[in-house]
Amino acid sequence: MAQQSKPLAYKRVLLKLSGESFCRDRQGGISMSEVTRIAEEIRDVVEQGVELAIVCGGGNILRGKQFSEGSDAIKPATAHYMGMTATVINGLALQDALEHIGVATRLQSAIRMDSVAEPFIRRRCIRHLEKGRVVILAGGTGSPYVTTDTAAALRAREIEADVVMKATKVDGIYSEDPEENPHAIRYDRISFQDVLSQRLQVMDVQAFHHCMEHNIPIQIFNFQKSGNILRAVLGERVGSIVDGDTE
Ligand code: UDP
Repeated sequence: MAQQSKPLAYKRVLLKLSGESFCRDRQGGISMSEVTRIAEEIRDVVEQGVELAIVCGGGNILRGKQFSEGSDAIKPATAHYMGMTATVINGLALQDALEHIGVATRLQSAIRMDSVAEPFIRRRCIRHLEKGRVVILAGGTGSPYVTTDTAAALRAREIEADVVMKATKVDGIYSEDPEENPHAIRYDRISFQDVLSQRLQVMDVQAFHHCMEHNIPIQIFNFQKSGNILRAVLGERVGSIVDGDTE
């Protein structure tokens, strides 16, 4: 039974889980213990009553650009379709991990794969969310040459999510690469314009511009720190938030 203990900062959240969330550090492939850990964090979020859609990445299995650069024998478009298919593999793993711990889910794919996933249908997706189901969105946008960041930004707008949350391995957005400069500053909050003028890396460029144009806030945080997804949903200062405010 859902218990709403603290006020939610967001009612509907689009969470982007990159492929690296599905594997052990730099190992690639899928680790069910990692997927289970993420699933437990997601359960904690859903129990607060937040509506959650998740866009899965696929980089733990294959990224189209890298894969096609390695061989003349594969066309870039084919490699990107392979990448999109990889996101369905991750989606299936996440779906079972969530259902295993009692979280109701639906898997929707932008690439038709009727025996394992529903097709992505915007209105149906929203209906699932309203019923408290986690909707896992796989297959990216269904079109090659872009990334799942772009899928996350587009889907967030379609389903009228309040925020795009990008779970990564870094603690947020820094003025410089913190691995190269230990004095780099992490921004709690930064405007879209400042990200652009300082040429900071947040999401892929298309995704970022889409969020900026439609004023969809982006929150970046480290998924490896336990409880971070929940803290972000509750509006606690975790990671960095990019929005239209220039306070
Ligand atoms: N991809 C694509 N179209 C999309 C989304 C993804 O062609 O709309 C392909 C692309 O090749 C990408 C791969 O799927 O590299 C896996 O997605 P991504 O690289 O975004 O995964 P992540 O980096 O989040 O793990």
